[in-house]
Amino acid sequence: MRPAYEGRRVRMTAPHRRQSRPVAACVRCGRVHSAGSETTVICSRPEPGGGICGGRITWRTNPNDWSECPHCDASGTRDGAACQRCHGDGWLLGRAD
Ligand SMILES: [Zn+2]
Ligand SMILES: [Zn+2]
Repeated sequence: MRPAYEGRRVRMTAPHRRQSRPVAACVRCGRVHSAGSETTVICSRPEPGGGICGGRITWRTNPNDWSECPHCDASGTRDGAACQRCHGDGWLLGRAD
């Protein structure tokens, strides 16, 4: 009789922390907005040239609205730094090419 645990493979995965799927994003810049911003309806991301984005935040609770960032595999980091593609969010609004 074999012990129950025998044969059960422990899946060894790389130290890789996936970001959880966001639920809101700015329609203008596409940046993810995390929880705790229920009252936020305007994107306040600073823009490179000064000022803020000012785009509208919409709730995106449909998983189909999101794609895992192919650049960082939804971890938000790549090569020890914040992913350039998703800005560390791990997810992209819409389809990732
Ligand atoms: Zn924005
Ligand atoms: Zn990424």
